[in-house]
Amino acid sequence: MGKLRFSAVENAISRHPQEVGFPAVKTSEYFGVNVFTKRKMQEYLSQEAFNSVMDAIERGTKVDRKVSNQVASGMKAWAIDKGATHYTHWFHPLTGATAEKHDAFFEPASDASVIENFDGGKLVQQEPDASSLPSGGMRNTFEARGYTAWDPSSPAFVMDSTLCIPSVYVSFKGDSLDYKTPLLKSIEAVDRAAVELCNYFDKNVTRVNVGLGCEQEYFLVDDALFNARPDLKLTDRTLMGHSSAKDQQLADHYFGYIPMRVSSFMREFEIEAYKLGIPVKTRHNEVAPNQYECAPVFEEVNLAVDHNQLLMTIMKRVAKRHNFKVLFHEKPYKEVNGSGKHCNWSLITDTGVNLFAPGKTPKTNMLFLSFFVSVIKGVYEYQDLLRSSIVSLGNEHRLGAAEAPPAIMSVFLGEEMNKILDELETRVSGKKMSPDEKTELKLDVGKIPEIMPDNTDRNRTSPFAFTGNRFEFRAVGSSTNVASPMTALNTIVASELTEFRKEVDKLIEGGIKKDEAIFQVIKNFIVASKKVRFDGNNYSDEWKKEAAKRGLTNIDDVLDALSAMVSDKAKSLYEEMKVFSARELHARLEIDIEKYNKKLQIEARVLGDLSINHILPTVYKYQNVLIENVKGLKELFAENDFDKLAATQLASIKEISSRAAMVNIKVNNMIDERRKANVIPEIDKKARMYADRVKPYLDEIRYQIDHLEMIVDDELWPLPKYRELLFIR
Ligand code: ADP
Ligand code: MG
Repeated sequence: MGKLRFSAVENAISRHPQEVGFPAVKTSEYFGVNVFTKRKMQEYLSQEAFNSVMDAIERGTKVDRKVSNQVASGMKAWAIDKGATHYTHWFHPLTGATAEKHDAFFEPASDASVIENFDGGKLVQQEPDASSLPSGGMRNTFEARGYTAWDPSSPAFVMDSTLCIPSVYVSFKGDSLDYKTPLLKSIEAVDRAAVELCNYFDKNVTRVNVGLGCEQEYFLVDDALFNARPDLKLTDRTLMGHSSAKDQQLADHYFGYIPMRVSSFMREFEIEAYKLGIPVKTRHNEVAPNQYECAPVFEEVNLAVDHNQLLMTIMKRVAKRHNFKVLFHEKPYKEVNGSGKHCNWSLITDTGVNLFAPGKTPKTNMLFLSFFVSVIKGVYEYQDLLRSSIVSLGNEHRLGAAEAPPAIMSVFLGEEMNKILDELETRVSGKKMSPDEKTELKLDVGKIPEIMPDNTDRNRTSPFAFTGNRFEFRAVGSSTNVASPMTALNTIVASELTEFRKEVDKLIEGGIKKDEAIFQVIKNFIVASKKVRFDGNNYSDEWKKEAAKRGLTNIDDVLDALSAMVSDKAKSLYEEMKVFSARELHARLEIDIEKYNKKLQIEARVLGDLSINHILPTVYKYQNVLIENVKGLKELFAENDFDKLAATQLASIKEISSRAAMVNIKVNNMIDERRKANVIPEIDKKARMYADRVKPYLDEIRYQIDHLEMIVDDELWPLPKYRELLFIR
């Protein structure tokens, strides 16, 4: 068995790039060095163990106990060679972050020495003492612990001397307590349905994979300034702050160069990402000052989700070394663009066909169209469900704020594809087609262009856009664990594909030829989902009116939007597709509402404290300066002159008094409302109270403070201002 000890390459790249200059090492030389890749598995595992893991990855089979012991021993050997001393199951609990509990490999042996131990049992299953992780009431105290179980489809990796084993997290009754379990089930559902439909056209397809590429947006802020802003520290966003005289008006950031300090941060986190096998590919400035984006090359969705979570962790850590903080909040600054995470999603067969890439032959294009219309119909039928998968307190500030799609779900197709669907709708009449008509239609379908310029330079206001060979779900927030929207999308599409096939089968049973049956169902799907297609400006008010006319829902209240996940329609979809039980959905809703409450509670507390302890004392101090000034003028000047000379100061003194009084009153009212809300036992009613009675105070108090910021002496102001936070020099 070969030994891959720390190489010179590894040492070179782990040094600080600024100190030693960027390493003259090719990325390909160290990409994935910290991952237990297939190649590493081949090296460290027996053939039997290797085959068994490959089967688990490719076919979802179970790895039996004996083999898992062999895998564990190989994995341990590899990890120890990489310098690991500990191991952990690495999983995605419903808190939104990832969780890990490290255990050391060593165990005391009988002769008072220690040995390194890690067997199949520990690889396959662990019980994290995670009773404080959210379960939505599904873990009663008598079964207080859920357990984590190895997910062989995402490779183990070493980080910080710890072997991390990607895992699912479930209760003892088997209910999912994490994001990964339902994602894996949705992948199975869409694979099953997609393969069946593909087999109409090509019997060789045995598996359909989901591809995902996430474009991650984020803000950077100087560490020292961040630490001087308790609101940023505790809530990830600024709860006050007058807008900077200059922010994004000139769009000079978007088109500008990446500041040195920032590019060296990017370079370093990319290196860390590469070591973990995350294929980060693009980086650029975003619209707002200090806002950036990075995107990896798309990967299989389960891996892509793990990688996105891991990437966010790495970015936070590396930022520290550059005296930055990374903000993943959807809207850290008022009146400045927020951050999203566009999810580029597609389905790809094991024969190498991207099912959303048009333009090969009539046959492949019929396949393409079948999938294409199924997605559109899915978005239409389940618009509320899709929305429920992406709403949150943070994303609420962003959606519809004239910079991000509104809470209305619609699909952008581009001129070309709209024309094609419109034409199909008229040409497929529902009556039996003549052989000539059929041939002609097929020939025309074969001519769908491969590249649609309209879609590459697409309408950027749409929440869900066809981008030439994939769909881009753009309403997703930057801090979201994208397993949630991906689970929803996969499941919805699985259901539509199943329905598509059922309808075709029915027509075939009624004596209609296969090709014609497929055309007819494509047409039915086009007709049924027409209302969700919109290529215009999604930010405009006209669209809101038009969407209402079309009967599309526009639920911008987070709590209402969330509740769609337990609608009868959602329950039957998820149960039928075997992704969630009704019980799991209710638990999930409860957790999301609880998260909403707690976040709002923290924001309200922080704002209250800052108002009373930071803002008001400062304001009074400055008011005293003004009062002293006025007193002096009064001593020096006669009445007539004094009135003129002291007018501005007197006005400021009055304005300060009245605004300060408003802050005080509103903070007290907010505290009262919070007290009332806190004693409400029902979590949904409590949330409603927080949303309707507590939340409005956040804006009202801020409004007064932001005005005070413009009056008070800059030297006295206790918090860094927007103009400082937003510009890195
Ligand atoms: P843009 O900013 O134009 O949307 P980016 O290059 O920033 O483009 O991001 C596009 C993302 O879409 C990348 O992660 C890319 O790998 C991904 N992508 C490209 N093709 C596919 C596909 N067929 N399926 C899923 N994702 C894809
Ligand atoms: Mg991009």
